[in-house]
Amino acid sequence: MKKLLCCLLVLMMIPAMCLADYTIHTSGKSGVPVKIRQEKDGVTIKLTEDGYKPSKTKTLTLKFYEDDSEEPVAELPITLSKRGKLSIKSGFEPSEKLLEILHETGRHARTGGWTEWKYLTETNCVTVGLIYRTNSTRTKMQISANKGKHEYKYTTVTKYTCEKPGKIRWKCVNCGDYYYEETPAAHTWGSWAKTETMHSHICKVCKATEEFEHTFKESKDGKTATCTVCGYKTAIDRD
Ligand SMILES: [Zn+2]
Ligand SMILES: [Zn+2]
Ligand SMILES: [Zn+2]
Repeated sequence: MKKLLCCLLVLMMIPAMCLADYTIHTSGKSGVPVKIRQEKDGVTIKLTEDGYKPSKTKTLTLKFYEDDSEEPVAELPITLSKRGKLSIKSGFEPSEKLLEILHETGRHARTGGWTEWKYLTETNCVTVGLIYRTNSTRTKMQISANKGKHEYKYTTVTKYTCEKPGKIRWKCVNCGDYYYEETPAAHTWGSWAKTETMHSHICKVCKATEEFEHTFKESKDGKTATCTVCGYKTAIDRD
């Protein structure tokens, strides 16, 4: 992790040096026609090579090696359809190490010539998912990791009254994270009563009243004016 961060700091200054930290190999039958590179904006899988005519679905495992280690530090099983669509086995749970690698490499992702990121595995505030995108000709693909946002819904703890503020609780449906929010005190106004010049209403709870002058807006033909608050309509006398 520390090494990867160091690497990234260097990368910001010298973008060309970013391929060194992990090497990536594929498993499976020899001659699987994909090229894989780790770049600063994700792990790129080049789907086609010279002379390659896609005809079958390919299943393979990407293996990530660190410091010429004997064993891979992370693996990612993928399936490439003959049309270049990427999928992974359902139920696959990415390891911490894999997510770390993908997260760090995806952090500097740029757009331009690439499709929007699409989800490979479910993502929410708890689950980190894998995302991918392809270039417009579908010959290259990038894989990265992403964490979703909380999904809050509220319940009323204390209802506001005419004089006192109330309280609601926002709780995430995925992870249970919650916080409180104050709702301001407010009257429960009845409908507007109207006179020629004023509109007024009465609170259904405490009987407080408010009265205002109409705020008129003229019609297009200039013949009538309507109050934008209460809807009171009057004819305009031009004489
Ligand atoms: Zn959450
Ligand atoms: Zn009231
Ligand atoms: Zn009015």
